[in-house]
Amino acid sequence: MKKFFAKHSRDLVFSGVIVLCLCLIIVAVLLLNQYADVLSEQSEIKVELYTKETTETLNEHLKQLQGLTDSAAIYVEKAHSGDEIAGTLREACLNREDLGTGLFFRYFSGETEYNEYGELFSASGFPEDAAVLAAAGSGKSVCLGTVYDSSSNQKRVAFCAPVKNNPMVDTVVLFCPLHEIKDFREDLNAEKLALTEFLAFCDVKDGYILDMLYTADDYHIAANANVLDELRKITNSKETVDLIERTIQQSGTAVIPATVNGESYAIAVGGGADGSGLCIIGLYRNASVYTSGYQFMNVILTSIAILFAILIFFAIYLVVTRRMMNRKILDFGTEDPVLHCPTSLKFEREVPELLSRYKGTKFAVVATSVRHFGYITETRGEQAAEEVLRFLTLIFGKTLQTGETFAYLSDSGFALFLHYKDTSLLLNRLRGLHALAYENSNARKYNIILEFGIYEIDREQPVSPHKMIERAILARDNETDDMRNHFRLYKEDYFESYMQNADIEIQMEQALENDEFKVFFQPKYNIATDRIDGAEALVRWYDPKKDVYRSPATFLPLFEANGFITKLDRHIYYKVCEFIGMRAAQHLKVCPVSVNISRVTVLQPDFLDYYVSVKKKFKIADDFITLEFTESVAYENYEMLNSITTILHRNGFLCSIDDFGTGYSSYNILKVMNMDEIKLDRFFISRGTNENRDKLILESVIHVAKQLRMKVTQEGVESQESMEYLRSIGCDVVQGYYYSKPLAMLEFIRFLEKGDDNGKTVSAAGMDMPQ
Ligand code: C2E
Ligand code: CA
Ligand code: CA
Repeated sequence: MKKFFAKHSRDLVFSGVIVLCLCLIIVAVLLLNQYADVLSEQSEIKVELYTKETTETLNEHLKQLQGLTDSAAIYVEKAHSGDEIAGTLREACLNREDLGTGLFFRYFSGETEYNEYGELFSASGFPEDAAVLAAAGSGKSVCLGTVYDSSSNQKRVAFCAPVKNNPMVDTVVLFCPLHEIKDFREDLNAEKLALTEFLAFCDVKDGYILDMLYTADDYHIAANANVLDELRKITNSKETVDLIERTIQQSGTAVIPATVNGESYAIAVGGGADGSGLCIIGLYRNASVYTSGYQFMNVILTSIAILFAILIFFAIYLVVTRRMMNRKILDFGTEDPVLHCPTSLKFEREVPELLSRYKGTKFAVVATSVRHFGYITETRGEQAAEEVLRFLTLIFGKTLQTGETFAYLSDSGFALFLHYKDTSLLLNRLRGLHALAYENSNARKYNIILEFGIYEIDREQPVSPHKMIERAILARDNETDDMRNHFRLYKEDYFESYMQNADIEIQMEQALENDEFKVFFQPKYNIATDRIDGAEALVRWYDPKKDVYRSPATFLPLFEANGFITKLDRHIYYKVCEFIGMRAAQHLKVCPVSVNISRVTVLQPDFLDYYVSVKKKFKIADDFITLEFTESVAYENYEMLNSITTILHRNGFLCSIDDFGTGYSSYNILKVMNMDEIKLDRFFISRGTNENRDKLILESVIHVAKQLRMKVTQEGVESQESMEYLRSIGCDVVQGYYYSKPLAMLEFIRFLEKGDDNGKTVSAAGMDMPQ
């Protein structure tokens, strides 16, 4: 838990800040929402007040028209003729532009109707509106609301008033054209009018718009349209419109909230005076009505929106930069900076992906490298070596198929991840690659020889891509196989030997400190003198846990490869000198001892210093230590070895050439080398085939050696027969199981003291170390 917090503390703080900001924004939005309700209420109150004002203005106007009608009725009381009545009524309308132009009267005497010129209205042939006819007989002073005037084909508002005491006229009716209620409009506050979206003067009976008092630019509403239909379209709410319909039918006054495109609006309904049949319906955008409040809210809303946007941007920015950084970290080291090809890191990442993507496909990891790459670097320079690698990168990159990949590892090594049907086809493909590299590089005079190690992936026993590469490399570098074969398939025992080697390398230093490397002595027998000639010191690695001795073959090749052999050679040599020195000091029997010197040991710059100083330290007599150099060392660099042997001779060492006949056998070596002894390899006497030819060679080698005054020692003599034969051809010394096996130090001491168990050997007496 603690670890989790420590690892993610930055993320947690960042998320915390984001959440906190979001909470604050949510709270602010909620508060603003409430404030928006308050704003709506406020603007509705304003709308209500304004509607009241408008309605009052309308009613005042209607009242004045009714007053005009009533006073006209009083004027016509005194009229004596139809003309006089008509004239009075016409005069009443004159100069009343304040109430609207186009006003006119008609009057009734009983059921007979006359127009404003005193002519019979029925003569005009137009029917009178039923409401007018009904009101004419009622004897009431009343507004009739909208009536249809067929003579002018217009809707008009009609007012009627009874005329008393005149037998020629009973009722006067004032007709007021709707579209000319100019003065009513003028009475309205123009500023407030402009706050509305539209303000319509409507008929309560059906909701038809009698006149548009105001329309904002956004609204295109025809003057004779139905206001309810329009509102239905605008608000999209049947409920709201039904409520409006009920309100106008009851001549009520109300402010009904509505939402248009998510914005808050108010619909104001103002009923005209009773019976007028008129109402005013207005649509108000609350934000326009209560501008300051909404502006304030908008500022805050915009600020919150900007804040939110910044927050989101910031969060996205952080997430993106983090991702990019993670990607960069992830990508770091996935491309070789010089060759611009994938590295092992990328390879190891890609291999599992490809394996899971192509489930049914067989894949192999191939490790390849240039043989003698160091030689190219040394002779042609680093630039040329780099060119070779670039060239290989190009070849590998171009020949890859879909689902394959490759990487540069190090030291001219590449890893290829290839799919294949069967091993022979894969080998063919690699042969093609090899030829391509060889031929093309040939043109550039590099002669690239590639070596391939192939690990065929076993899906049943999955291993990590790193291990796959390791195994392919193990196969490539396996020297036990024929070096002429450039294509080596990984075998399970490679891994075992690799593990064994690793185990040995881990233990070797400690083993040296723990004195686990023991010296064994194998006595040599001098055929001519019939006495012990000396002994060869041979190393054994003692395993205290198992109480066994490991033979040198199991660890020496590795020590030669890793350089540890030098330490071991010196250790054995030191032990030998110590043994001889101590026994000599106590005047005990000793014999000359041969010590093996590996190729690596000779090449050490302080080789001579060390060997000479130890000899001096233990006061070893001259000619008592023989150093054995293998034939291969002599062959590789006989000049160097010659100068070394010269110095060794000067310091009282004898020199021997070991394993003669194993590879480079050349009589020339014998002639040019300044050696005291030649040790013939066991194969001279062990091989059954071609016996005559071998004998011939052996005899001539002994002959040459004798001429050169070298002592001839035959190794691996296992039978009396061999010994007798060797004696017959002039061999001086034999070493082998027939005489004695290599003996542990105590056994060897016993051997020196008594001779061997069979009594075949000569006594070691008289071999006291010369003082
Ligand atoms: P080598 O120098 O040729 O040593 C002779 C080998 O022949 C020894 O094997 C010995 O045990 C074996 N041998 C002796 N007589 C017979 C015989 O009659 N029949 C058979 N079949 N083998 C016989 P070993 O002790 O296993 O040593 C193997 C090699 O390891 C040596 O070959 C030598 O090259 C190397 N070696 C041993 N000790 C050292 C050392 O201290 N330093 C270095 N540099 N090499 C050593
Ligand atoms: Ca030897
Ligand atoms: Ca040998």
